[in-house]
Amino acid sequence: MTADTLPTFADVEAAVKRIEGVAHKTPVLTSTTANELLGAQLYFKAENFQRMGAFKFRGAYNTLSQFTPEQKQKGVIAFSSGNHAQAVALSAKLLGIPATIVMPKDAPPAKLAATRGYGANVVLYDRFTEDRDAIARRISSETGGTVVPPYNDVGVLTGQGTVAYELLKEVPDLDYIFVPLGGGGLLSGTILAAQGLAPNAKVYGVEPAAGDDFQQSLRKGEIVKIPVPKTIADGAQTQAAGDITFKIVSNGVTDILTATDEQLVESIKFYAERLKIVVEPTGALSLAAARHAGIDLKGKKVGIIISGGNVDLVKWGKYLSEGLPQ
Ligand SMILES: *Cc1c(COP(=O)(O)O)cnc(C)c1O
Repeated sequence: MTADTLPTFADVEAAVKRIEGVAHKTPVLTSTTANELLGAQLYFKAENFQRMGAFKFRGAYNTLSQFTPEQKQKGVIAFSSGNHAQAVALSAKLLGIPATIVMPKDAPPAKLAATRGYGANVVLYDRFTEDRDAIARRISSETGGTVVPPYNDVGVLTGQGTVAYELLKEVPDLDYIFVPLGGGGLLSGTILAAQGLAPNAKVYGVEPAAGDDFQQSLRKGEIVKIPVPKTIADGAQTQAAGDITFKIVSNGVTDILTATDEQLVESIKFYAERLKIVVEPTGALSLAAARHAGIDLKGKKVGIIISGGNVDLVKWGKYLSEGLPQ
């Protein structure tokens, strides 16, 4: 894909129509305490209330609903230990498409059970000795099934753009938008939505400090690959941007910021205490950077995307009571 065939705002609008009535239109929350703390007006787009608990449902459903009859019949294949797997499994179930999900043997039992619960065929692999891309490709060549990647895909990232589309329809004059960042699907979609609805809004992607591959890539002007980062933000442990997401982000992002695990725990606590909601570590990246990255937000209108709420509740309780595990 070349720069002149990159997706646009119109593709996000088309995705809005495809997911209408299927994905939840999630609420935009506000908090006087949060506003006072930052001296700004904050608008939290709460994708922790999305179906399966994260925005990933939007991109998966947008992609699968465009399958041809032949693709539908041959099925979909995804590899992921996290939210993308569940998003593909649920979308496939709703559309009557057989799904095969390649997951690590040591994935949390709750995630394995949830994925199987959506009727997907789960293929387990060993993270330390096997290559999941190779397994997915082999299944695809045997079955003719379509592999849906987690972020570097036009259908997926334009579906993710519907989050910011809804936010900006509700609050059209945002000055800033903060977006959790892994492989860049959500950030790319946000950039496209903002280009159509709020071209003056500044859009920041926020990565875990330990996994700043996108920030490094942006500074260097080419995709930098890093080892698997050690962070509690398990939805943003990506090692490298995709070629499509890197292009869209390079063209449209204001900057890429980072947040430490300590700051994520602090934000998770803030969400529990003030907004009374469960946010997973990756979903807390945006607030953590809005609070700590040194951007002057005084008197501004600020969108904060909460990307998901899928966190083991025992771990979540420990973040609240004990802070970051040592
Ligand atoms: C996948 C995910 C992200 C990162 O999204 P990308 O499109 O890979 O940048 C952020 N938060 C949550 C909760 C996720 O599941």
